[in-house]
Amino acid sequence: MKKICAFLLALLLLTSTAGAVDLYVDTNKIETDTPPAVVDGRTLVPVRAIFEAIGATVTWDATTSTATGIRGDVVVSIQINNTTAHVNGEPRTLDVPAQLINSRTMVPARFISESMGCDVTWYQDTETVGVANKTKGQHIYVTKSGQKYHYSGTCNGGTYYEATLAEAMGRGLTPCDKCVLIQETPVAAPSETSGQKSALELARRYLQITAFSYEGLISQLEYDGCSHADAVYAASNCGADWNAQALNKAQSYLGLMAFSHDGLVDQLVYDAYTPEQAAYAADNCGADWNAQAVKKATSYLALMSFTREKLIDQLEYDGFTYEQAVYGAEQNGY
Ligand SMILES: [Zn+2]
Repeated sequence: MKKICAFLLALLLLTSTAGAVDLYVDTNKIETDTPPAVVDGRTLVPVRAIFEAIGATVTWDATTSTATGIRGDVVVSIQINNTTAHVNGEPRTLDVPAQLINSRTMVPARFISESMGCDVTWYQDTETVGVANKTKGQHIYVTKSGQKYHYSGTCNGGTYYEATLAEAMGRGLTPCDKCVLIQETPVAAPSETSGQKSALELARRYLQITAFSYEGLISQLEYDGCSHADAVYAASNCGADWNAQALNKAQSYLGLMAFSHDGLVDQLVYDAYTPEQAAYAADNCGADWNAQAVKKATSYLALMSFTREKLIDQLEYDGFTYEQAVYGAEQNGY
């Protein structure tokens, strides 16, 4: 048995040095003390290197020779020489198990990466494994023979086809320095402090009660004793759609009194919505601005008397157009 193991090990070493396989995660070439190895058509990589490259934390249980990687709500466990691995407790069959090479624990790159939700591509020509993690689904543009990859499909007026970053990596292409830089999206939420957590819970409770602007919510949370940093965290991570919040607020204002389009925008900006959010709300609240002008004129006339001219001036001052103001006055008998 010992002899067979030694022979296998020698064979594995031979395989691993025969062709140098490169491993890329997004745009980063992953440097490992033990190089990636191809065993039975599967690329094996050092366990810690691959897990950490895709942002997972790794624990090693020496008594069972089991490595466990955790990222977000995904837990992947893999045991040396065991063709059954586990993803969130569910068994998965591996055709090539994790194994020791040069006394390093090596695991199948594709299995680990795909279990963690990454896309994996193998490039035969360049013997490269491309793992798309932060760049998953992010398409770039290449030509058949070019040495660069592009972020714009119209860079330099060329004719490109769409590709994944992993493909570009696999072909050894380098980024074009003329196109805009890639936008990396955050993968896993960072672990929350207790202050951030309670601010977030409070924020979500408030949003169930009434509409808030981003700034307004931060002020409210600070008023409730959250630190500014925790309040900002909560407002940024509560998942609120600020346009929808502005729209809600607009509708509650319209339930209270009449507004012109511009008057409503001003009010929402005063409530710390951005001018864009305020405009979105005023444009989408479904108000009939002529009817609003009539209603506004009626409310003024209940308070004091106006000449036709003064009433129209007042309505224009409130942000109604001249036509709306005239309509509002005339429908009130002026
Ligand atoms: Zn370009």
